[in-house]
Amino acid sequence: MTENKKFKSGFISIIGRPNVGKSTLLNALLGEKIAIISDKPQTTRNRIIGIVNQSGAQMVFMDTPGIHKPMHKMNEFMVNTALRTYNEVDVILMLVEATERPGGGDRFIIETLQKIKTPVFLVINKVDLVKKETLLPLMQECSKLYPFAEIIPISALQNDLGGLIEAITRKLPQGPRYFPDDQLTDQPERFIVSEIVREKIFELTKEEIPYSTAVVIEDMKEEPDITRIHAVIYVERDSQKGIVIGRGGTLLKQIGTLARHDAEKLLGTKIFLKLYVKVKKGWREDVGMLKNIGILQEGD
Ligand code: GDP
Ligand code: MG
Repeated sequence: MTENKKFKSGFISIIGRPNVGKSTLLNALLGEKIAIISDKPQTTRNRIIGIVNQSGAQMVFMDTPGIHKPMHKMNEFMVNTALRTYNEVDVILMLVEATERPGGGDRFIIETLQKIKTPVFLVINKVDLVKKETLLPLMQECSKLYPFAEIIPISALQNDLGGLIEAITRKLPQGPRYFPDDQLTDQPERFIVSEIVREKIFELTKEEIPYSTAVVIEDMKEEPDITRIHAVIYVERDSQKGIVIGRGGTLLKQIGTLARHDAEKLLGTKIFLKLYVKVKKGWREDVGMLKNIGILQEGD
């Protein structure tokens, strides 16, 4: 568990007008290394949309509220909220399109960036759509709008990210791994799902069974159309395992169906829920296990 002292970590906001390619960039950044994708609010201020794990660094990409709201709704309060968010992250990526000169929408966003200390990278996306010669003048024009720390042309669609990841890493402070490498989504959602499963066990089993079970979400991966969840139901004895599974697996299936149904309603997405039953004697005395229930930040 000794983490390299040089480990770097930090938070990165992605901002920009609609359609400039923020989602596409996120997908490109996450690639196979996808760890967290959640577009549900984490707190009222920030939401985590993705985590990228590198060997020596962890980058937590955040969405910024306020800045995405229609301009007529954008009042001073929202700008202030955006400002606070800006100061809480380590790097801000402002996306624009290579196909257009910066316009009113971009300038409006730039206005919200005044007086912040956080480095802002201008990321010029969709360079695959323009001739190389047009890039330099565009970069020069953009550099007059704001003291960007970096101006990086990319094509998110073609997975051509220039030196973006390296440039971000350079700006990250030394810091801890905020999320376990294998953490696939945010804690609150895991907790909700484990509680739903537990609720169904309570509904469908009797006597000591409900009190002998713990539900741990081992894996939760949000894909665009479906969230895949693997949950383990821990019981204390073999006999209890048999009961929870039921004859021919019928009870476990029933628990799964009901839980999936509720979880889909609550999380607003299609869910694939796979349930396992495992025996873990005396789990109620097991500190690691207790930490694990619904928390899952620590190992077991
Ligand atoms: P967002 O609204 O900022 O999240 O933008 P999206 O990521 O949804 O992208 C908007 C559109 O631009 C989509 O049709 C993307 O396929 C397209 N797009 C995004 N990045 C690129 C790129 O690098 N090159 C090209 N040609 N199209 C892109
Ligand atoms: Mg988008």
